[in-house]
Amino acid sequence: MTPATAVAGLVGDFVQQLQHLQRLKERLTEIHNVNAARAVLNWDQSTYMPPGGAAARANQLATLGAIGHRAFVDPETARLLEGAEREVRAAGLDADSDEARLVHVTRRDYDQATRVPADFVEEMARAHALAYEAWVAARAANNFADFAPWLRKNVELARRQAGYLGYTEHPYDALLDQYEPDATIAQVQPLFDHLRAALVPLLRDITAHVDRVDDAVLHRPYDKETQLRFSEDVVRQFGYDFARGRLDLTVHPFATSFSRDDVRITTRVDPQFLQVCLMGTMHEAGHGLYEQGIGANLAGTPLAGAASLGIHESQSRLWENVVGRSESFWRHYVPLAQRAFPAALGDTDAETLYRAFNKVSPSQIRIEADEVTYNLHLMLRFELERKLLEGSLAVDDLPEAWNAAMQDYLGITPLNDAEGVLQDMHWSGGLIGYFPTYTIGTVLSVQFYEAAVRDAPEIPDGIARADFAPLLGWLQERIYRHGRKFTPDELVRRATGRSIDPEPYLRYLRDKFGRLYGLSEG
Ligand code: ZN
Repeated sequence: MTPATAVAGLVGDFVQQLQHLQRLKERLTEIHNVNAARAVLNWDQSTYMPPGGAAARANQLATLGAIGHRAFVDPETARLLEGAEREVRAAGLDADSDEARLVHVTRRDYDQATRVPADFVEEMARAHALAYEAWVAARAANNFADFAPWLRKNVELARRQAGYLGYTEHPYDALLDQYEPDATIAQVQPLFDHLRAALVPLLRDITAHVDRVDDAVLHRPYDKETQLRFSEDVVRQFGYDFARGRLDLTVHPFATSFSRDDVRITTRVDPQFLQVCLMGTMHEAGHGLYEQGIGANLAGTPLAGAASLGIHESQSRLWENVVGRSESFWRHYVPLAQRAFPAALGDTDAETLYRAFNKVSPSQIRIEADEVTYNLHLMLRFELERKLLEGSLAVDDLPEAWNAAMQDYLGITPLNDAEGVLQDMHWSGGLIGYFPTYTIGTVLSVQFYEAAVRDAPEIPDGIARADFAPLLGWLQERIYRHGRKFTPDELVRRATGRSIDPEPYLRYLRDKFGRLYGLSEG
């Protein structure tokens, strides 16, 4: 045997050894490609598709969805997966290697996807589509009773779905686990209780001094195109790569990824309110930076995604709030904003804009909420949906329970169902167990930032000079590049040294808003 053939023999053995893994990867990449194509069609539908395309597009999306799902739950995937699991064990690969983690995550996805029978998945999809239409109509008519039967059906389906998915303690755990792997009520409930106990009194102190912060400067005429260009400049400076992304207009802003090299974001503009476009763009760019930062080594595999919705949201909240609503950010950006909007901002200064972007006011609508009230909106939803699922709250009693909780937490009562219990689409689309991921993300945004500054103390000075590279570099290294390799808890512990902890977030709020509202001055 020549040395060359000996090497070829060894390589051959290795390939032989991992042949199931290799074929599994090829299969998963094909499925990934189908799903990415589906995402392109979805993006197109929300941005440029003419209204007439809706019916055909729904069919195209359904077909691609079915192809991707069928290929994934096919017994051939299971056969390759079992083979790959054996090969990874036999080869003695490190448990943290890309290969071992790929197999581990695929097993988790496969079990989750196959536990729910196909005809039940179809039944759910139909019910959710009809419930969504009923919700749109009920909200327009401002009448919860029109939506109630559909919500009753969705709650019943959610209970059955939890039964199929399986859980040890609470049916809610099974639903939450789909969005936030391994999270349970047993962890989330104490976190929420702790937050509520701190936030309700903080909000009460702030509302006693509402007049101390004024945001009138944001409610002036701001040219639409200039707002877009300004927001684009800011997120380009963050590090969002426009050679691998783009910004478009939609009614409901979102971020979507077809690969790490094509990650798109959308925004909306209010010509009378500076906050909407700028903060919305920063938020979606945070999601986009995460997706653009996923390691090229994970491309095309199930690991090329976010660790969870909570981790995803931690990045949008971090860039939007911790960075974009900070004093140092506005010190740098005020002259630039004044040059962009001379008529509206000529007479202003950094302090005024910083304060304006941080005005706290209890409002009806979650997506318009400030940093202090935001989580109270979410707790209310979490508690109500948990009770609906348990059966301790009847759907018919939901509006009353909603209004009572709004009064309790935020001190206000919705004027009507449309602004109250009907404001979010989630329950109509069967997304029960989704809301806590927003709170987890908000809490983690500050925990990550605190850990980043501990490791790289130059970060705050960088922000004051619009040099975001130190912060982005840390996030990239500790979070983004890992994609789904680690569970959310593993990722948080590896990056910050401990599991999710509300203290950094509460310290941040007390400090920031205590100063903004002069709370220690009484
Ligand atoms: Zn978001």
